[in-house]
Amino acid sequence: MQPPAIIWDVDGTLVDTAEQHFSAWSRLAAGLNFPFTRADFAATFGMRNPEILRQLFDPGATDERCRELGERKEDLYRASVREEGTKLLPGVAALLSGLAARGCPQAVGSSAPLGNLDLLLGVTDTRRYFGAVVSGDDVSRGKPDPEVFLTAAARLGVSPERCVVFEDAVAGVEAARAGGMRCVAVTFVGHHPAEKLRAAGADLVVGSLADVTVDDVAALVRG
Ligand SMILES: [Mg+2]
Repeated sequence: MQPPAIIWDVDGTLVDTAEQHFSAWSRLAAGLNFPFTRADFAATFGMRNPEILRQLFDPGATDERCRELGERKEDLYRASVREEGTKLLPGVAALLSGLAARGCPQAVGSSAPLGNLDLLLGVTDTRRYFGAVVSGDDVSRGKPDPEVFLTAAARLGVSPERCVVFEDAVAGVEAARAGGMRCVAVTFVGHHPAEKLRAAGADLVVGSLADVTVDDVAALVRG
């Protein structure tokens, strides 16, 4: 019996960097003289930067303008992660090491740019756990398309049926299911309610990854 392979979403699952994203968008918006509220921010969850920029600031923004503003926002975000640091969410450290001890291959599958993932894995000292890191830069279609997770499985050299995705967002759960993978959804940061994650097809919905054991994960891909 092969151990399960795990693919981790990062924002909201491995770490909670929502405040640093909010602060980066706020500072970008202030520089452009646009209003930016908590409600505006909540509406951006799961969206990629060009869509956010066109929806909130400038519907007619060219690709070049979106790239430029997106880079400015990510620079602001990375600066705030570097200044403030970030911590692993509850249960994550124990699961990472417990899964590694059982020989489970692990990968990152995130919509974030590679520069952000490099920084976060460095700040949290978790890079050694991951056999593959797939970022938003590696795929042409964002979640709920399964491309990011299928790419991660391919880079680990495992079949989708052997994979369990850890996610916090409805689009991510949908992506896992569309890729033929099992999915554990965590509600800890509270952006997506449990019933919506369940309706999207999560096999297991937990309040925190501290509630999940390696055996729970292995049971999802057995039989
Ligand atoms: Mg997430």
